[in-house]
Amino acid sequence: MTARSAAAAARSTVYGYPRQGPNRELKKAIEGYWKGRLTADALHATAAELRRGNWRQLAEAGIEEVPTGDFSYYDHVLDTTVMVGAIPRRHRAAVEADALDGYFAMARGTQDVAPLEMTKWFDTNYHYLVPELSPETVFTAHPAKQLAELGEALTLGLSARPVLVGPVTYLLLAKPAPGVPAGFDPLTLLDRLLPVYAEILADLRAAGAEWVQLDEPALVQDRTPAELDAAARAYRALGTLTDRPKLLVASYFDRLGDALPVLAKAPVEGLALDFTEAAAANLEALAAVGGLPGKRLVAGVVNGRNIWANDLEKSLATLGTLLGLTDRVDVAASCSLLHVPLDTAPERDIDAQILRWLAFARQKTAEVVTLAKGLALGTGAISGELAANRADLAARADSPLTRDPAVRARAAAVTDADTRRCQPYAERTAAQHAHLRLPLLPTTTIGSFPQTTELRTARADLRAGRIDSAGYEKLIRAEIGEVISFQEKTGLDVLVHGEPERNDMVQYFAEQLTGYLATQHGWVQSYGTRYVRPPILAGDISRPEPMTVRWTTYAQSLTSRPVKGMLTGPVTMLAWSFVRDDQPLADTARQVALALRDEVNDLEAAGTSVIQVDEPALRETLPLRAADHPAYLAWATEAFRLSTAGVRPDTQVHTHMCYAEFGDIVQAIDDLDADVISLEAARSHMRVARELAAHGYPREAGPGVYDIHSPRVPDAAEAAALLRKGLEAIPAERLWVNPDCGLKTRAWPETRTSLENLVTAARTVRAELSAS
Ligand code: GLN
Ligand code: ZN
Repeated sequence: MTARSAAAAARSTVYGYPRQGPNRELKKAIEGYWKGRLTADALHATAAELRRGNWRQLAEAGIEEVPTGDFSYYDHVLDTTVMVGAIPRRHRAAVEADALDGYFAMARGTQDVAPLEMTKWFDTNYHYLVPELSPETVFTAHPAKQLAELGEALTLGLSARPVLVGPVTYLLLAKPAPGVPAGFDPLTLLDRLLPVYAEILADLRAAGAEWVQLDEPALVQDRTPAELDAAARAYRALGTLTDRPKLLVASYFDRLGDALPVLAKAPVEGLALDFTEAAAANLEALAAVGGLPGKRLVAGVVNGRNIWANDLEKSLATLGTLLGLTDRVDVAASCSLLHVPLDTAPERDIDAQILRWLAFARQKTAEVVTLAKGLALGTGAISGELAANRADLAARADSPLTRDPAVRARAAAVTDADTRRCQPYAERTAAQHAHLRLPLLPTTTIGSFPQTTELRTARADLRAGRIDSAGYEKLIRAEIGEVISFQEKTGLDVLVHGEPERNDMVQYFAEQLTGYLATQHGWVQSYGTRYVRPPILAGDISRPEPMTVRWTTYAQSLTSRPVKGMLTGPVTMLAWSFVRDDQPLADTARQVALALRDEVNDLEAAGTSVIQVDEPALRETLPLRAADHPAYLAWATEAFRLSTAGVRPDTQVHTHMCYAEFGDIVQAIDDLDADVISLEAARSHMRVARELAAHGYPREAGPGVYDIHSPRVPDAAEAAALLRKGLEAIPAERLWVNPDCGLKTRAWPETRTSLENLVTAARTVRAELSAS
C-alpha cells in the first residue's frame, strides 16, 4: 500500500470508555445491589443500558470501531481472572454458588474470606485486583462476558473489537497465591495459559469478531530478556493459530523499548503504540526496525489520561510521519478513556473560555474522529476544527491563568540554598530538643482524627447553604477542642488539630490555591465503586492567603503541648491531580512547593514548632522505567525541600508516607532531609525500621505500631512488642511512637482505645529503658 492509500483507510477507535454513566449510575446500581435494594437482574439491565449508551455515543461521534469487553462491574483484571478460570481456592465455593456474589467477594472480601490484594494500575490512579497464581493453577476458558458484550455491540450494527488483557501482562501482574513459596514466578504458567487464550480467541471469532485487541501495557516497563522472550513465544503461539481473529497487540503509558522489535516480528496483524509522551522514543524505535510493513498501526495520539485538548496539528504531523512506516494507520486515544472524566459539558463553575482548553472522554473521542478524518481526507476536511483548536491553544498559552509573571519570576529565582535547611541535622536536632523538651520515644499521630458523619453533614450543609460559614466554623472549632482535649487526657506528646475541616488532603489545598480548577462532575474510577474528582493543575500556582494557620493556631491556643501543623506535600499535590502538559512536571512542582513554603513559614511565624508535610505519593509517582527514576527523584525531593527548608533550625519538620515497601527510594527519603519521618510498619513487623537502619538513615523515624487499616484494636503489649522491635534497628533517641497513618477512616471508640494503648506502650518501654 502507498502512504496515500494508507491514509485514506484511516479509521478511528478507542480502547475503552468510562464505565460509570453520566450520573454515576453504575456506582449507584452496584451499591444498591450490595445493600439488597436492587436485584441482580436490575443491576444487569442497568449495566447493559450503560454499555449501549456508551457505544451509541461513540458511534454517533464517528468512532468507526468500538471496543467491547472493557466494561466491568469492578475491575477488568478481575474480569480476566474470571475469564481464565483462575479463581483463588478460598473463593471457589462462593463463585460456584453465585457467580456475581462470588465476583464481589473476590473484590471486597467477606466476613470470613479475604479479598484479592489491590494495587495501582501502572502509574495511573486506577487500582486493579492482583491475580493470585500458584504452580497448581489450572486455567480454563470462560469467555461468556466477552461473547455477550460483543454480541450486544454487533446487534446495534456496530463494528466492534473485543479488548482483553493480554496473557503476558496478566501473568506479569500476578503474584504467588498465599502460601506459595515466594520464588514462584507466575510467568512460568504461560504455556498453560496460552491454550485458554486460543480457545477464547476462536470463540470470539466464531461470534463475529474480525479483530481482537490484546492489551500488553506491562511491556512498556523494563523487562528482562526472559520476559521479552516469553512475549515473543506468546505472540508466536497465538499468531500461528489457524482459527483466530486478527490480533491487535496494544501498548500504552510509555515507550515499548526493547519489546518493540519483539512485537514487530510477531505474526500478529496490528500494534497499538502510545504517541503522546512516548512519541519520540516510539517513532525512533519504529524507524529502527524498518517500520511495520504489512501491519495495522493504531496510533494513540490523543492523550487518554490527561484532560487537555489535543494539539491537532502536532498530532497530524505525527500521523503523517507514521504513514511512511506502515501500511495502515488508525487513530486512537493513547490508552483507555477510563482514566478521564466523561464530559466537560455539564461543568458550570469553569469559565466557558477555559472549558474549551479541556477534553474529557467525549471531547477526546471527537478529537480522535477529527484526526482520522484529517488523515483520510486531508486537512482541508477539518479546517474549521483546526482553526478553533489553534485559537484555543493560543488562548491557553497567553492566559493570565497559565502565565503569572510574579510566580514565574519567583520560581526562576530559586537557588540551591533555598532548598537547604540553614543548619545540618545534628545542630538542628539539638535546638529542637531544647525547644520542644519531648520525652524519649515521643508519641504523636499522623494528622487526621475520625471524620464523623456530623462533620460530613456540616460540610454538605455549608455547600447547600443550610448553615453559614460562621456556623460551620463553630462546629469545626468544637471538634478541634475535643480532639485536643482527648490527646491531652490520653497523654500524647505532639498533638494535632485532627483535620476536621478537610474533605480530602489534596482537594482542600487545591480549592485554596490560585491556578487550580475544580470540577463538579469530573468523576474518575479509582477502584470498584470508588470514584474521585481530581482537581486540575491548570495555571501558575500561588497562595492568596494562609490555608491552615487559623485552625492550627486555634488548636495551639488550647494546649501548652506542641501542636503539629499539617500540610500535603508538592509531589502528592501533583500525583492526585490532573497535571499541566504545557510545562515540565518539575516546574509545576516547584510552583506548588513555593506556595507551600509560604504556608510553612506562616505556620512557624504563628508559633508552630512542629510542621508535617505529607508525601504519601512519593513512591507511587515513580516513572515506569528505571532510566527515568533519577530525574524524577531529583525534582521531587527538591520540591519537598523547597517547601520545608525556609524554617528556623529549632522548628521540627516531619513527613509521612504510607507504605511498607520503599527499598527502592530509601535514598530519596534521606534526601528529603526531614527531621522526622513516620511510615507504615505495623503489618510488616517493623521491616521499614530495619531497612532504614541498613541504609544508615541518620534522622528520627516513627515506624507505625498501630495498623489503622482495620477496626482491630492493638493492645498495649502488642504495640510495646513492635516498639521493642523498632528499638533493635533505631536508637531510642531517634525513635517516635505513632500509628501507621491518619485516623480519618476509623471510628472514635476504636481510635480512643488504640491511642490509649499506644501511649501505655510508650510509657512501658520508656520505663524499661530507664531501668536498664
Ligand atoms: N495527614 C494525613 C492524615 O492523617 C495523611 C494521610 C495519608 O498519608 N494518606 O490523614
Ligand atoms: Zn499515610
